[in-house]
Amino acid sequence: MASKQELVHVLLITFHGQGHVNPLLRLGKLIASKGKVLVTFSAIKSAGKKMKEAGAAVDSNPTPVGNRGGKIRFEFFDDGCSEDNDDERYDFDTYFPKLEAFGKSSITEIINHHAKTGLPVSCLINNPFVPWVSDLAAELNIPSAMLWVQSCACFSSYYHFENSLVPFPSEEQPTIDVHLPNMPVLKHDEIPSFLHPSTPYPFLRRAILGQFKNLSKASCVLMETFQELEDDVIKYMSKICPIRPIGPLFNNPLLKTSSNISGDLIKADECLEWLDKKDSSSVVYISFGSVVSLNQEQVNELSYGLLNSGVSFLWVMRMGKTSTGQSGELPEGFLDEAGDRGLVVQWSPQAEVLTHPAVSCFVTHCGWNSTMEALSSGVPVVAFPHWGDQVTNAKYLVDEWKVGIRMGRGEAENRVIGRNEVEECLREATSGAKAAEMKKNVLKWKKAAEDAVEEGGTSDRNIQEFVDEVTKISLKI
Ligand code: UDP
Repeated sequence: MASKQELVHVLLITFHGQGHVNPLLRLGKLIASKGKVLVTFSAIKSAGKKMKEAGAAVDSNPTPVGNRGGKIRFEFFDDGCSEDNDDERYDFDTYFPKLEAFGKSSITEIINHHAKTGLPVSCLINNPFVPWVSDLAAELNIPSAMLWVQSCACFSSYYHFENSLVPFPSEEQPTIDVHLPNMPVLKHDEIPSFLHPSTPYPFLRRAILGQFKNLSKASCVLMETFQELEDDVIKYMSKICPIRPIGPLFNNPLLKTSSNISGDLIKADECLEWLDKKDSSSVVYISFGSVVSLNQEQVNELSYGLLNSGVSFLWVMRMGKTSTGQSGELPEGFLDEAGDRGLVVQWSPQAEVLTHPAVSCFVTHCGWNSTMEALSSGVPVVAFPHWGDQVTNAKYLVDEWKVGIRMGRGEAENRVIGRNEVEECLREATSGAKAAEMKKNVLKWKKAAEDAVEEGGTSDRNIQEFVDEVTKISLKI
């Protein structure tokens, strides 16, 4: 291996959710493409196993990225659970302390080992749900940064909640509006839902807020957003925290050369050849990310809404269990009735799907990665949020950025979206004046996203400055 004079070593530690792995790995590749940096990307061993099984190149030997001498490698750590026992990992209340205890000791060993072999770690970067990485960095006297994988609007919501700076819905006043600086007023069901007193997932609120208790330990907050997209709130929050918007991480031109390094935890099914045979802008893409699952009644209504609408569709329908439950099954005869008009897969290569010319719109749960991917691919959305930041993202997609049609307000609404409503949303999103207006708007955001990441753009400058600073710190070690 190279000596520390040759390569600055940055260690990235991710929580193992797909929505966490993707942006942090994209960031890792971007950092490696920006200088003489060795990035080590680290997740729990079971995630490493899944990535390998999905066909990803997760080599412990460094792979070159870009043309400035940077490299990326993978190293996985023990979380104290057996590799295949995801049930144990779904019980967050008992799993999180275990992850922290095992994670801290395994990562310390990894860091000590690299120090001994001439590659000391100069910077640690983590994403939400593993806030103990910032503690570890402080204990070991290593500078650290955090990659925030949601919008700046959500960051501000959590920040203001954690520090009790504005009133949020409470048990006494559950439906009050929330007024956050430099943001549109959020209705009670538009704030990140885990902040609601009635959330069934208080452990997820604790998991996210853990990072906000540790904010002062990170030297900066890298953010998967871009200045032009959230200008007002980024300006406001930048006065409070050292925020650096560096997105969209998806589709950054510098990452094209390393597209074989992927963080997929599930092997994508073939669907690009099927899309190739479809007319331009003729297919609706439907996916609800890696966690959300629909109950049987909702699956039925969505299925019949799709059939009745007459649109062609590619639907990612994960079977089996996730941390939130079991998905419903397709109604009997659905696939026969859809025929070649529809394709249902377990997992798609979403990055390629969204940039495929056949795709006309995206029925999405509005996870932040999916949101950024849709905006930077120029694909309008039908917003079908469920929980967490998705409800806030839906508000922005529909009311602020004007690139989406709303098909529900989230889980708290406690209602099944009927087939007629599904059909109406699909029609509105794929034909007529509203569809044309959304397409025009989303193409404007696509262009703004491209400008932000091209050389000299706002995000490009922010990431370059970050890499330059880490390099300077490293040389002083
Ligand atoms: N994704 C994918 N194939 C699929 C579904 C999702 O590659 O079939 C990727 C998607 O591109 C995104 C991530 O998985 O990068 C999901 O993250 P998001 O924040 O949208 O949702 P989450 O899974 O965290 O709810």
